[in-house]
Amino acid sequence: MSATVTNSNIYQERYQRAKEVMAEKGIDYLFIGPGADLQYLIGTPGMDNERMMLMVIAQKGEPAMIVPALEKLATSKYAGFFELLDWTDAEGPQGRLHQLVGSASGPVKAAVGNQLWSMFLLELQKVLPDAEWSRASEVLKALRIIKSAEEGQLLKDAAAIADKAFTDIVKLQFSGRTERELMGDINGLLLKYGQEKMLFCIVGSGPNGAQPHHHTGDRVIEPGDVVVLDFGGAYKGYCSDMTRTVLVEGGTPDPDFEKVYNLVNQARAAGHKQARPGVSCESVDAAARQVITEGRYGQYFVHRTGHGIGMEVHEEPYIVGGNSLTLEPGMAFSIEPGIYLPGRFGVRIEDIAIVTEDGEENINLSTHDYVRVK
Ligand code: ZN
Ligand code: ZN
Repeated sequence: MSATVTNSNIYQERYQRAKEVMAEKGIDYLFIGPGADLQYLIGTPGMDNERMMLMVIAQKGEPAMIVPALEKLATSKYAGFFELLDWTDAEGPQGRLHQLVGSASGPVKAAVGNQLWSMFLLELQKVLPDAEWSRASEVLKALRIIKSAEEGQLLKDAAAIADKAFTDIVKLQFSGRTERELMGDINGLLLKYGQEKMLFCIVGSGPNGAQPHHHTGDRVIEPGDVVVLDFGGAYKGYCSDMTRTVLVEGGTPDPDFEKVYNLVNQARAAGHKQARPGVSCESVDAAARQVITEGRYGQYFVHRTGHGIGMEVHEEPYIVGGNSLTLEPGMAFSIEPGIYLPGRFGVRIEDIAIVTEDGEENINLSTHDYVRVK
């Protein structure tokens, strides 16, 4: 468990805001299990396993958390104004659930965390058989989608670690080594520069780069390969996510590499140029996509342009066609266009943008020109 935003008043404010949104939407209960929502509300993600750990925010009731007895001490450091109701392995959590919500009568509206295990939802449904269920994101999206200045700074700190690591990554030996060996080195560099936890690392070399989420494997990197590097981790609870595409010296690079790289880089720049308050998420996707479509590679840009980022690597807002949500200052998201040519190679470039009062700040500072590696 690791601390995140340090200002303790912030959790009181978030709790009040959550209750306000619950009132607006007529939601009686909000049930949150371990994970990013919990971390947002009390500063720790909790312990995610088969023992029920459940935050209960009731519209008419005091803030409480059901915790396994063995987690009580660790949780009490974060729980603040939440009352901790513990249960032992021999007792099980059902008694605590009844204590908190068993007296609810008639139909109630309950919202559950998107990542709450279904086995816990089934227990809740036994205690509240007449409830109407919805997703907690209905309540928490409105809060988590706008980053405070302190949260924005933590995202910048996480991005700066990725940038620092990249200056060393391009000095690594690529040719003759496996993708997995490179992944080990990249993970090590991110941890060295202060990342607290690695979340993912994609090394997609040669034809493997044509799969956007390639599972880094045993392929030996060759001279002339195009290599997609996409990595991220968490720093004080906030995530980094950056992609660069490099070219291995020597060999015979694909003749279309330069053209494709430049197109992706122009699409990236067009996305950033469009991102500002008052425009829609889908317009940022369209701005980036238009460059690639006009370059006649539209069919090879097979995913959305970006995703929100914060305590989770993928969260709201999604930068995708069909999302008419309007950008506001404090929203943070990736802009990561790519072109993927099956059997040949892929190119993706990804930075994180934070919307400001009059535009956006690109918080990844590594070069956007492709780097030649050994
Ligand atoms: Zn990424
Ligand atoms: Zn991403």
